[in-house]
Amino acid sequence: MSTQKVALITGGGRGIGADTARLFAKQGYAVAINYKSNSEAANKLADTITADGGKCITVQADVSSEEDVSRMFSTVDKVLGTLSVLVNNAGILKKQSRLEDMTADRISAILTNNVTSYFLCCREAVKRMSTRHGGLGGVIVNVSSGAARSGSPNEYIDYAASKGAIDTLTKGLSLEVAAEGIRVNCVRPGLIYTDMHADGGEPERVARLQTVIPLQRGGQPEEVAEAIYWLASDKSSFSTGNFLDITGGL
Ligand code: NAP
Repeated sequence: MSTQKVALITGGGRGIGADTARLFAKQGYAVAINYKSNSEAANKLADTITADGGKCITVQADVSSEEDVSRMFSTVDKVLGTLSVLVNNAGILKKQSRLEDMTADRISAILTNNVTSYFLCCREAVKRMSTRHGGLGGVIVNVSSGAARSGSPNEYIDYAASKGAIDTLTKGLSLEVAAEGIRVNCVRPGLIYTDMHADGGEPERVARLQTVIPLQRGGQPEEVAEAIYWLASDKSSFSTGNFLDITGGL
């Protein structure tokens, strides 16, 4: 098996995850690009990475499914080798809504997709990375959101709360595995130009709100990818349980 470092990026086919996959591949990692249903986007990205001389695979898996997560990690083990980095990035939001109009189904879908998934992927990564289990150590980077701090009133408190849970997961897990060779850190992006805002019912949301951002513009996915990469790299070797806000000052 090669000595090339291996990174698994959940939700790596589009948006922030896609730019993260591109950057890790450029930096010499073998990259596993996870996606849920948009195989076209994931395969197109994989073709670009391969054409540029990088190494990657695509892995379909719904990261909120325990069975799919197990299969995804086994595939990475078999095809790419020892996992060095997990980027928990896959996430969803639903149409903008006040809390009194939210159904239990909606709230459950958000929590399962955005929280249970991160827990399951962290569990599988820790089993592989922890020196307690004979692993070589590793790094986990969780993608939370500035929404964890703002609470997203009148838009999606459910989504914001799911990201608050990711902040707590990051803190707790970072301490649990700090002595076992694993660093766990988190980025909290602000308003970033991706498809996600269309899922919330307002594709132009970033443009509408850019004047409230102190830097007076929305962020690009590659600007978040750079922060994720830094937290995964040895350049941040003394950082764990830390949070990087990529919010243009918000
Ligand atoms: P995006 O463009 O909508 O892409 C989301 C990605 O997640 C897609 O690749 C999608 O797969 C994947 N995904 C969603 N649910 C999944 C599941 N259950 N299993 C596997 N993959 C799943 O979103 P984004 O804006 O890049 O967001 C990435 C992360 O950044 C999310 O955690 C989001 O909450 C966070 N974030 C985004 C912003 C922003 O302004 N964009 C701000 C703060 C935080 P398919 O391609 O197969 O659909």
